[in-house]
Amino acid sequence: MNYQRSSELFVEAIKYIPGGVNSPVRAFKSVGGTPLFIKKAIGAYLFDEDDKRYIDYINSWGPMILGHAYQPVVDAVIEKTKLGTSFGTPTAIETEIAKLAVSMVPNIDKIRFVNSGTEACMSAVRLARGYTKREKIIKFRGCYHGHSDSFLIAAGSGLSTFGVPSSPGVTKGTAQDTLLANFNDLNSVKELFEANKEEIAAIIIEPVAGNMGCVPPVNNFLQELRAICDKNGTLLIFDEVMTGFRLAKGGAQELFKVQADIVCFGKVIGGGLPVGAFAARAEIMDYLAPVGPVYQAGTLSGNPLAMAAGLAMLQAINNDAELFNRLEAKTAYLEAGIRKVLTANKKTFTINRVGSMISVFFCENNVENYEDASKADTPEFKKFFHDLLERGIYIAPSSYETWFITDALSYEDLDETIQAINEATI
Ligand code: PLP
Repeated sequence: MNYQRSSELFVEAIKYIPGGVNSPVRAFKSVGGTPLFIKKAIGAYLFDEDDKRYIDYINSWGPMILGHAYQPVVDAVIEKTKLGTSFGTPTAIETEIAKLAVSMVPNIDKIRFVNSGTEACMSAVRLARGYTKREKIIKFRGCYHGHSDSFLIAAGSGLSTFGVPSSPGVTKGTAQDTLLANFNDLNSVKELFEANKEEIAAIIIEPVAGNMGCVPPVNNFLQELRAICDKNGTLLIFDEVMTGFRLAKGGAQELFKVQADIVCFGKVIGGGLPVGAFAARAEIMDYLAPVGPVYQAGTLSGNPLAMAAGLAMLQAINNDAELFNRLEAKTAYLEAGIRKVLTANKKTFTINRVGSMISVFFCENNVENYEDASKADTPEFKKFFHDLLERGIYIAPSSYETWFITDALSYEDLDETIQAINEATI
């Protein structure tokens, strides 16, 4: 029977772990049912505890751009592990990966490694506040920058799914320094600058939003934000935790030809190990301790196993001139296939895609911001999700999430997926 062992494990997990999971969106709460317990993953496939195979469109929420158990990453981690797992001292490999990352991404001179995307964004905001000597930040409704207090204000994905606009435990004092604007709505940003003259340290944005489904910037939105920041002495922070090393070697900065002041990374940069990073020009980064006054630290930051995984991943991406073309071609093929079957099956839908990030919304309106994304039909999505899962296709258990396409997918896998989507929506 499907999901039998997963169901048993979930019952046991709930006894000892809140909701049975260590990160809320894994719980399938918005789509119902039992989350899959995964035993192993290879290439484009996950295998659950019931030994059923799934084609994976979550890919650990982004990191596995080259597929699961990617051999150079696995080998690098195994070799490093034999030499000890953590020293709490500088290591040569930290400089090696820093040098490579700086060479791949535009407009950064120095990078600091942390343990998650949350830490990267939280530290980037502290750095921006320290550097500008201002306190307020602007974030966009539906964007998610991790679970640090100042970001849990109208954050997307997990929080949107559960309909919790903010979280208990976040103080009013913290919330009042986070100003909210609407994605792709320049006027909403201008109004905040009018009302908070010379008080705004930074704008933080997912340059392609991925936590309200995939929502691209329109009408030169990023370029316009750059101009507003320049005019007001405000720093522009690109949260490239999803987009970094995924949309291009140099991420969204390269793709959209816009320079950010601080860039945050996570996911791909760690090759599947817990890694985040933030980076900027030297004059900004040298505001960090121990050179500058802004404090930031981590016992396991720059951990050798994590750095070995990240380095192997970045080297593979850097040395493969065709990777982003292949990802674009595969995701475009998938998009065309989905459009064809959903149209033939008379479904109302909108598909958004940038490179290897793609989302299917069951709504007729364009999706350019959080409000648009919330108009999508949730019951239709639930059915879609479960019908695909039964057919061995694993997409994110929420319509507010992006699908991440991996290079490990073959065209046969994509055809199998399109066929399953046809059967699920016929
Ligand atoms: N920023 C973005 C854009 C994200 O999508 C995420 C996580 O999904 C984060 C930050 C937080 O990263 P982490 O979950 O590694 O803390």
